[in-house]
Amino acid sequence: MADDAARAGYGILRSGSPTFYGVPSAPELDKLKADVAFLGVPFDMGTNDRPGSRFGPRAIRDASLRFAEIGRDGWYDIEEDRHLLQGVRMVDCGDVNIRTVDFAENFDKITAAARLLRASGALPVFVGGDHAISYPLLRAFDGGPLQVVQFDAHLDFTDEWQGQRYSHDNHMRRSRELPFVTTMYQIGVRSLFERMEPVDAARAYGNIIVPAREMVRTGGAETINRLPLRDAPCYVTIDIDVLSPDIAPGTGFPEPGGISYYDLKDALAALARRTQVVALDLVEVGPWFDPPAAVTPRVAARLLLDFLGAIFARKE
Ligand code: MN
Ligand code: MN
Repeated sequence: MADDAARAGYGILRSGSPTFYGVPSAPELDKLKADVAFLGVPFDMGTNDRPGSRFGPRAIRDASLRFAEIGRDGWYDIEEDRHLLQGVRMVDCGDVNIRTVDFAENFDKITAAARLLRASGALPVFVGGDHAISYPLLRAFDGGPLQVVQFDAHLDFTDEWQGQRYSHDNHMRRSRELPFVTTMYQIGVRSLFERMEPVDAARAYGNIIVPAREMVRTGGAETINRLPLRDAPCYVTIDIDVLSPDIAPGTGFPEPGGISYYDLKDALAALARRTQVVALDLVEVGPWFDPPAAVTPRVAARLLLDFLGAIFARKE
């Protein structure tokens, strides 16, 4: 029977091949017709210490099936008394075909895939992978001025260390050097620095840094509302380690402190109201570091829905 065909996420028991939230697969990037397009980027060659975020897209797909939309008419958020994403067409484009060794080749593949998603008119949602992918992703959003908002426990702004210029500790610096990146906001930072160079350089570039504790005191929405953001194109990158390790332990570089799920949810909603989000990525979910409860991919899956709901609430 057709009703019994394998459809990811639709059974009472999860089975079959998962897509993000059980949405249809759309592997042909040059023929996309959708409002939102998810793309996995299982790349973790840029990790300095503990790799494993290459398994992030698969883990978040699996966790997201808990939210598989039955009947495809969005969700109801009782805390906001609001319906999310009604009538929004979402598709899963699969993963970039990352190869084992060649860094530059992988970066070019990532940029090429991002360009196709951008050209389709869908809102691209990139799921990593380690944070090094944000630079090849951002390269695809050239043209007019672009604001970049980063949520991260770390600055990721090192120019070079022991000859490395493209790791997950360098990508924000490389992105800042792109001529169309006009402003950069770095929110939730709290790691200790062994060198002042990245901090001095970020300040010299005019980046606005909001330490995690300041955001905890100010609250997520007010933190965003105080920033001199423009109602103009904005790329948002979310390193899951911005959250407290209490709720997101499954990541390679957890840091004490950090912000809550609600602060991040509120900050993302405020960003959606104040800027034109043209693309977003969520990176550094390393499911093998999770305790057996596998909570981090679930938190990631929920946050993506919250953010998309806020973005499309504005578009309505
Ligand atoms: Mn990062
Ligand atoms: Mn980080």
